[in-house]
Amino acid sequence: MRGRVGLFLELAGLTIAYVLAAKLGLMMDAVAGFATLVWPASGLALAALFLRGNRLWPAIALGAFLSNLWTGAPLLVATGIAVGNTLEAVAGAAAIRYIPGFAPSLDRVRDALGLVLVAWVTTTISATLGVLSLTTGGIVAAASFAETWRTWWIGDALGDLVAAPLLLVWATKPPPNLPSARRVEWAALGLTLLAMGFLIFGTEAPTLIIGQAYFLYPLLIWAALRFGQRGAISATFLCSVIAITGTALGRGPFARPALHDSLLVLQLFMSITAATFLVMGASVVERRKAVRDLRASQRGLETRVEEGTAALNRANERLVLLKQLEEAVGARDALISIASHELRTPLAAMQLHLDLMTRAILKSPDQESLPDRMMVKLTTFERQIGRLSKLIDHLLDVSRITAGRLELALEEVDLAALAREVADRFDEVLRRADCAVSLQAPVAVIGSWDRLRIEQIITNLLSNAAKYGSGHPIDIEVEGDADSARLVVRDHGIGIPPEDQSRIFERFERLIAGREAPGFGLGLWIVRQVVEGLCGQIRLTSAVGSGTTFVVELPRRPPVERPARATELSASLKRKSQPRVFDWARKN
Ligand code: ADP
Repeated sequence: MRGRVGLFLELAGLTIAYVLAAKLGLMMDAVAGFATLVWPASGLALAALFLRGNRLWPAIALGAFLSNLWTGAPLLVATGIAVGNTLEAVAGAAAIRYIPGFAPSLDRVRDALGLVLVAWVTTTISATLGVLSLTTGGIVAAASFAETWRTWWIGDALGDLVAAPLLLVWATKPPPNLPSARRVEWAALGLTLLAMGFLIFGTEAPTLIIGQAYFLYPLLIWAALRFGQRGAISATFLCSVIAITGTALGRGPFARPALHDSLLVLQLFMSITAATFLVMGASVVERRKAVRDLRASQRGLETRVEEGTAALNRANERLVLLKQLEEAVGARDALISIASHELRTPLAAMQLHLDLMTRAILKSPDQESLPDRMMVKLTTFERQIGRLSKLIDHLLDVSRITAGRLELALEEVDLAALAREVADRFDEVLRRADCAVSLQAPVAVIGSWDRLRIEQIITNLLSNAAKYGSGHPIDIEVEGDADSARLVVRDHGIGIPPEDQSRIFERFERLIAGREAPGFGLGLWIVRQVVEGLCGQIRLTSAVGSGTTFVVELPRRPPVERPARATELSASLKRKSQPRVFDWARKN
């Protein structure tokens, strides 16, 4: 209901506005009373149908019909003219809607040019139908068809060029909240325009030098440059009103004896002016927008450059820290290397003297008289020296491996015989740990390996089996095929939880610490480094409470050429061990 009333009110309002605008135009010395050079009604109709929809067409039809009837047109003639005026407005609105992305603010040059084109083309409909109606109705002689058509067309086109843009721009965009300085400027521009308009069109031409219409151009340029499209269109409209009023009063540079002639020259001038400043206003806005966009993207770019620089600085700082860290790690490795070398010499001397002392005591005829307590002390002393030398050996290996200096002296080695030898040597330890050993190494398994390092592998695995599987048997197996050898060390001890099975191969990783299982967490790490240095691999299977099986697989002939082997292997170790420098550093 409210919608219908609203539509009715809109239709009624538009009809009245159209009739008034039409009457104003028809007062301007219209040809035969109907074809006029001033027709703001066409602009009103175009803007109304574009902004409020085609459903308002009845208001245009009725307004045109009534105003012509009022001016004295016969019923049929008024109907014909009304049809032409309505079709012109509907076609015009449809045409500007067809322009892709058309915005009634007319901010784009393409929209402004589109409107100019629409104004010149669609108004031919009304001119043609209107003048046809007049000639058919006998109001205009057929001989005057062309002149009447021209008048009608210019009047309608100017309505589209001057009135329609004003309505479109002011109806769709709320006036910007201008700072007071700009408001003063806006008022100054309006007053200057009025004053200049009065000087040009309020006086009798051509008596005054100032009475030239193009004197308005600087003011229109001012309006466009400072106030964009809104300024350009409003100023053009104001000029048009002043110029038409002055010319209608017989004043200004376009005044001729006949008002029709005066208006013809004026409206030709105004049509060029309106089209020019419509396009100029749009291009000023477009330029401003481009500058704004450019500034925004420049700001964005600056922010990105600043962020990039900050990130670079952070990366640089990290790099410096990393370098310092590397130097610190290098210094520590060097210290470990020197310290373990230096510790080895007095330790070796102590070991020698302990040996000599033990032998001397054993040889002495009255050894029986030595108290047992003394023997126990000697044995403890020997064991502690053994532990100390093992620690130093491990530290030396760590420093060699991290420095890439672990050299492998390859020779023909029988893995089966070596396993047997180590197991024999371990007899005492295994007995103390209450571990029975079964060795299955039925045939010789010969390969090209570093004897001492292979011994180290077997020793470490066997001592772990005794340490973490005391009281349970240990199985050792050695077997081989044409290309590879396999060493298996199986215990039935405490086992290793699945989540810890890979980390125990890292440096200083231990699952239990304390007196019951002394160690440094280095044995398996060294084993893995040596195995990988020999191009083999080590893996384990384990279940908590049931024991652990370590399997070492080695190629019989590591794929490295003999003379270059030591260096290449150490280089390969260096590559492998380098990243761990940082692991180590993290741990400490
Ligand atoms: P550690 O000197 O501590 O024995 P390793 O590198 O040889 O150093 O071993 C690392 C850790 O792996 C040990 O501390 C232990 O917790 C675990 N581990 C090694 N071998 C065994 C095994 N046979 N059974 C159970 N745990 C083991």
